[in-house]
Amino acid sequence: MQSVVKNLKIYNSISGKKEIFSSVIDNHVGMYVCGPTVYSNVHLGNLRTFTSFDIIYRYLTHLGYKVRYVRNITDVGHLENDEDQGEDRISKKARLENLEPMEVVQKYTYDFHETVRKFNLLPPSIEPTATGHILDQIKLIKKIIDEGIGYEVNGSVYFDVFEYNKSNNYGILSKRNLEDLIHNTRSLDGQSDKKNPQDFALWKKAEPKHIMKWDSPWSEGFPGWHIECTAMSNKYLGDIFDIHGGGIDLKFPHHECEIAQSNVCFGTNAANYWVHANMLTLNGQKMSKSTENNILPDEIFSSGSPLLSKTFSEPTVKFFMLQAHYRSILDLSDNALLASEKGFNKIIDAINMLENLKSYSDKTSDFDVEKWIKGCYDAMNDDFNTPILIANIFEAVKFINKIKAGSAKISEKDYKMLSETMDSFVFDVMGLKKTNALQKGNDKLDDVIDIILELRNDARKNKDFSLSDKIRDMLNKKGISINDSDKNSSYTID
Ligand SMILES: [Zn+2]
Repeated sequence: MQSVVKNLKIYNSISGKKEIFSSVIDNHVGMYVCGPTVYSNVHLGNLRTFTSFDIIYRYLTHLGYKVRYVRNITDVGHLENDEDQGEDRISKKARLENLEPMEVVQKYTYDFHETVRKFNLLPPSIEPTATGHILDQIKLIKKIIDEGIGYEVNGSVYFDVFEYNKSNNYGILSKRNLEDLIHNTRSLDGQSDKKNPQDFALWKKAEPKHIMKWDSPWSEGFPGWHIECTAMSNKYLGDIFDIHGGGIDLKFPHHECEIAQSNVCFGTNAANYWVHANMLTLNGQKMSKSTENNILPDEIFSSGSPLLSKTFSEPTVKFFMLQAHYRSILDLSDNALLASEKGFNKIIDAINMLENLKSYSDKTSDFDVEKWIKGCYDAMNDDFNTPILIANIFEAVKFINKIKAGSAKISEKDYKMLSETMDSFVFDVMGLKKTNALQKGNDKLDDVIDIILELRNDARKNKDFSLSDKIRDMLNKKGISINDSDKNSSYTID
């Protein structure tokens, strides 16, 4: 296993290259991922991001690393436009829904946890909240002021990007340079207290009616969005840790600002590897609530959407996401989900068949299992390349189907290795689940469908074909196909 560990390469957004992974502390990995801002239901794009980091967490653990995975909950300070203007997203939602801000936080934290649990994402080792770390944030803001990079105006504190850039590189991650940023930033027409529009807020003074506010040396107020991640990642992972991740939309300004804060406070870029998961589009376009080109996770899994012909199980949707590399844009469509469903079921059928295999050949196999296992590790070691891993798994599926058809054989030793590796990559590393409500062989489901088929047969006998067709079509929509013979009917799950 040691040689496998040494071969792991991760694409680092700072260098723009794949780099051999080497951890700060041997056999340990510290990983921080920017979590959700809990002011609305988690959307599918976020779910893709958290799935990408779940796979990274799972694979590092599989390789034998002891991973401390910190994923925060942003429950204050994330303003509407990602810069420093507009209302706090949680306060705004509370005002619109006539709720306490903490009710908003509770409601959507619960929704987030429910959704990631359904998706079989492992919980992080620590899940800190921004509101639980106000004192840590104040401490860092003081330090930034002491270093001459932060300044206070009217109770708010800002990070002086120009002062910082004199001895550091603001733009090291996003590759934007300050000159271009100046050129592209609209003037704030004196509406802001900032020295320069590029400066970002570390602390904001609250309006008198604002509920979410805390005491500080500068004013009763609340922290800026970027400082929370610097405070929490440093508290639990130290001045320099291994992996910092998030969605690609966070690269600028959020992560660029985190790096700047960390350089002032600790003299490091916070993490050695900055990793970004790409976005999810829907039918070739950006998802957006305003254009109705939008699907919520629950609409795919259970309630249905006008954009889809049927609902899809969580493992199918997760499998669909893993068929693309985490750094590629992934486009979701009905056809793509239908194809993933077929593919995923083929893999599960092959694993079931493998489990029930009773006979092995004596010594020889018609498949080089060791070479195949190496291929699985090579794929994942190449910046967690799940589509190549899945292509490899389909090679094994083909072979298993040949065994089933009697046209190939496998030795007992190879059988064991193949079964174990299939299980560990499909279930442990990719975190897919075999059992879902639509798995044939689920006793209760079989019973229920038998009852429905019996009622449908009665309808057919009574020549009530409109009812029997209706039942067939309704089941079909849920992915259950009815096969009629003269005497009775059977079913298959697509
Ligand atoms: Zn963050």
